[in-house]
Amino acid sequence: MNNNYNILVVEDDAPVRNLITTTLKANEYKFITAANGSDAIMSAVSHNPDIVLLDLGLPDMDGVDVIEKIRSWSNVPIIVISARSEISDKIEALDAGADDYLTKPFSVEELLARLRVTLRRLSVVSEQSSSASVFENGSLKIDYAAGCAYLNGDELHLTPIEYKLLCLMAKNVGKVLTHSYITRNVWGTSWNNDVASLRVFMATLRKKIEKASDTTPIIQTHIGVGYRMMKME
Ligand code: CA
Repeated sequence: MNNNYNILVVEDDAPVRNLITTTLKANEYKFITAANGSDAIMSAVSHNPDIVLLDLGLPDMDGVDVIEKIRSWSNVPIIVISARSEISDKIEALDAGADDYLTKPFSVEELLARLRVTLRRLSVVSEQSSSASVFENGSLKIDYAAGCAYLNGDELHLTPIEYKLLCLMAKNVGKVLTHSYITRNVWGTSWNNDVASLRVFMATLRKKIEKASDTTPIIQTHIGVGYRMMKME
């Protein structure tokens, strides 16, 4: 049952908006709609939605500005829906505070999958606030107080950078993090988006926390964009 969740759909293109709302209705999500950026911001204030689905190309303002406005007071998950396939637009939206993106044209199944990923993230966030010192995701466990990480109960031998990287991904589980966000938070601004080095550290970390036999790796690569830790079932 999804009907406790209220989703704000921001889309000026009526056929696309109808496709989204029909899908939401069929899957028992509640929703409200907005067809431009200023209505979207007003609705986000007055309805306090659980998720925002946001088209980037709006008639009155840029979707990235809508993200920045909403982020000034709210951490509500924002999934960007955009016809712009350029990677730079996705990065700009993610760096402004979006959680995930869908590129038009998208399938109904894709939309529902993104919603499920985001809702799992919401459930982790609420679990974490009640027991903040330990993070568990599938066979992975992080004991923040002890500064240790475990895989299937065995302690992982991580370098300080790998541990920092793992904690950052865990803190943002379910969310796509851009290369520049990760390098800024792990190494500071002096690293200036050193993607080649990040790739090397990520590869060694993944070797330690993933097995070749894993059907779904815990770290998802978004080519040219960044990485996301998946919430495992
Ligand atoms: Ca549009």
